[in-house]
Amino acid sequence: MNSSPFVNAHNYFELLKRWRVLCRKRGLKIERVINSDGYWVYQIKSPALFRQNGVYISAGIHGDEVGAVEGLLRWAEQKGPELASLPLLLYPCLNPWGMVGNSRYCQKGKDLNRMWGGDKNRLTSAIQDRLRDMRFRLILNLHEDYDARGIYLYELIRGQGTNSRAEGILQRAEGLIHRDTRNSIEGKKARDGIIRPRPRNFLPDELPEALYLFRNHTDQSYTLETPSELDLEVRANTQVQMIDTALSS
Ligand SMILES: [Zn+2]
Repeated sequence: MNSSPFVNAHNYFELLKRWRVLCRKRGLKIERVINSDGYWVYQIKSPALFRQNGVYISAGIHGDEVGAVEGLLRWAEQKGPELASLPLLLYPCLNPWGMVGNSRYCQKGKDLNRMWGGDKNRLTSAIQDRLRDMRFRLILNLHEDYDARGIYLYELIRGQGTNSRAEGILQRAEGLIHRDTRNSIEGKKARDGIIRPRPRNFLPDELPEALYLFRNHTDQSYTLETPSELDLEVRANTQVQMIDTALSS
């Protein structure tokens, strides 16, 4: 028998089981959002979450990025009793069909992270409905990249007195995985692993989750990326450190 914790890296039901155990232990509420491609998508709310000033974290919109999905769960497991006191809205896995089949896309072959604007689908519409009137102090979207040479992130911030958390997030995590130092990542200008995209450079038909949320629900958003060619254990633990630093800084 193989006792590696990652035997089940693509087992959605095992993932849900662990989340249910944790939610029961810490007093968080796990609820169905919508059935998408034959699997229920869930959201998790902490008792400290209200319509303003919450923290939104999602993972797994690209089904093949399991290090991010595992990282979010581990972070929550490791947080201890403090978890319930954080104002959390979590989407632990937005593309279960893709997770099970190790696919970036949904069953129709579309990228769910480009369907938050004009070209919506049932899942993204359902989430958007639930977020109506909500504002978040911080939003994290957890991703992985098979081309990446290290960790990097996208930062979207606005408003006076909003301090960048970008450097702190990368510094804390680079003990596990060094940062991607290329000047151009995914066709965008990058500096020391930080990409600050211009929000207007996106076509409405290709709107990603992070940008939709930044336009409508927050002044501070990070998309955190780990390189998916590296060992899953290290990637998951790196995600844990990045999430933890983002929330505590
Ligand atoms: Zn991704």
